[in-house]
Amino acid sequence: MSFQPPKGTDDILAPESQAWRETLRLWEDVSERYGYPLIVLPIFESTELFERGVGETTEVVTKQMYTFSDRGDRSMTLRPEGTAGVVRAYLNSGQQGVWKGAYSGPFFRYERPQAGRRRQFWQVGVEYLGTASSLADIEVIELGYRFISSTGLGDVALLLNSIGDSRCRPQYVEALRNYLRGIQSELSPESVELIDRNPLRVLDSKTDGPKLMEAPRTLDHLCDPCVEHFAEVKRGLEGLRIPYKEDASLVRGLDYYTRTAFEYVATGLDTAQNAVGGGGRYDGLAEAIGGRATPGVGFALGIDRIMLALGDPQRPYLDAYLVSETGPEDALPAVSRLREDGVRVDFDTEGRSVKAQFRTAGRLEVPVVLVWRGRGQLVSAQTEDERVELPLEEVSTWLNKR
Ligand code: AMP
Repeated sequence: MSFQPPKGTDDILAPESQAWRETLRLWEDVSERYGYPLIVLPIFESTELFERGVGETTEVVTKQMYTFSDRGDRSMTLRPEGTAGVVRAYLNSGQQGVWKGAYSGPFFRYERPQAGRRRQFWQVGVEYLGTASSLADIEVIELGYRFISSTGLGDVALLLNSIGDSRCRPQYVEALRNYLRGIQSELSPESVELIDRNPLRVLDSKTDGPKLMEAPRTLDHLCDPCVEHFAEVKRGLEGLRIPYKEDASLVRGLDYYTRTAFEYVATGLDTAQNAVGGGGRYDGLAEAIGGRATPGVGFALGIDRIMLALGDPQRPYLDAYLVSETGPEDALPAVSRLREDGVRVDFDTEGRSVKAQFRTAGRLEVPVVLVWRGRGQLVSAQTEDERVELPLEEVSTWLNKR
């Protein structure tokens, strides 16, 4: 019998996983610097939370959820996205006012698997709740942009739009609906079906989106406060020297999404999978899931896609491998000392020959091999082009200086 990982899931192992670890560490670091504490939430929630919080007409809810009945006959769903759970947690916490949180973890969608589109995938994200200020939008957009840039992903485009709010969007939706009715014969049956129900979703349809260059644009229908908010966001980004491109086709089809919508695109990836993340303002979401009115803005980034765009940066996860000439028991205290000193080091616990230990060091592609000859003896540190003899307690300083 042999088991495979379920379709659309991956085993991410070393050495590839080292690049993941570094990227996730970077995420911890950047999100912390912007003042977003870690939040750890359930991986499954009641199905209704997502029906209401993601939207019953969305593809995620209608086609992609991993939903099951638990043993108490409650309908549960593996989280397909993060925002609904975060807003639920904020409302449950009883906290008031401005609140921030950063998350990182696996998400699940029943998709047709391909590169960059998995059934289990990793997202990191932030949510900034309790403020309608455009400064929150700017901060959130900047955080995502700086994080993606710091991963080493050179070419990232930031696309930006405003989709208005409950005051101005209804007129826009009506204008769009009329327009779509006029060109109905050119549209796919799925889009035609959406004209009455949710015409905004036609704009981001993969097949029909490109035919809609002439469609009415949200930006031409914004009310004054939405125009002002959008102008503030753009001014803020310009002040921070974050380049953006306005993209009228960037919409969110649900009523609780308001004003700012944005997306980060890795220009080096295939168009189907080139969105590495997206976000926006969702001032109506808390009420949609039965809570008190709470404005919010946030984003989610797909780590699988970022790793895909980064290519295959294989980096050793060890600073050194210790080869022992006097057996593993004798080497253990030395390895322990090095680890206490902060060295990422491993050794052989099987008592294999010195030659076999060197082979392992070679396979692991460590930059340095340390040869241990026993207590009281100097350690021989060997790299491709040098060999030095040092006391054990100087090894970490020597490694740091290299
Ligand atoms: P969304 O919630 O659909 O806006 O997704 C936000 C980001 O998560 C996307 O831009 C992708 O980078 C990533 N993502 C979403 N779905 C998947 C998936 N099935 N596989 C891999 N990454 C995904």
